[in-house]
Amino acid sequence: MSEVLCERCVGLCCRYLALPIDTPKTKGDFDDVRWYLAHEGISVFVEEGDWYINIANRCKYLTKDNRCDIYEDRPRLCRGYKEDTCDYHSGDYGYELHFTSIEELDEYLEKRKEKK
Ligand code: SF4
Ligand code: SF4
Repeated sequence: MSEVLCERCVGLCCRYLALPIDTPKTKGDFDDVRWYLAHEGISVFVEEGDWYINIANRCKYLTKDNRCDIYEDRPRLCRGYKEDTCDYHSGDYGYELHFTSIEELDEYLEKRKEKK
């Protein structure tokens, strides 16, 4: 959380975590991604060629009034958020790909197959 905009925000960046995953290559790898996407609150995105799983889950230190309860001691990832690119601005991180369901991934794989 940065300091000025955050006072007006509901802590959008404190409501999920995104973790890198291996780039899927085989049919089985993509089927594992389908399994991720079968779960509530999960999406998968690709940024600068790297694949990530996004897990919608509120940080336990986000207070009821949307403040950080451990602000002075918050983790470095929280310190890395920049006001000009953070989720407050629709979370536009320029994803190359973004899947929120099995259907979206299947559609992408189908189109990829057609191109080959
Ligand atoms: S999304 Fe942006 S404005 Fe909102 S709390 Fe996070 S860093 Fe602050
Ligand atoms: S530790 Fe604080 S800044 Fe970091 S995600 Fe939790 S509430 Fe947000």
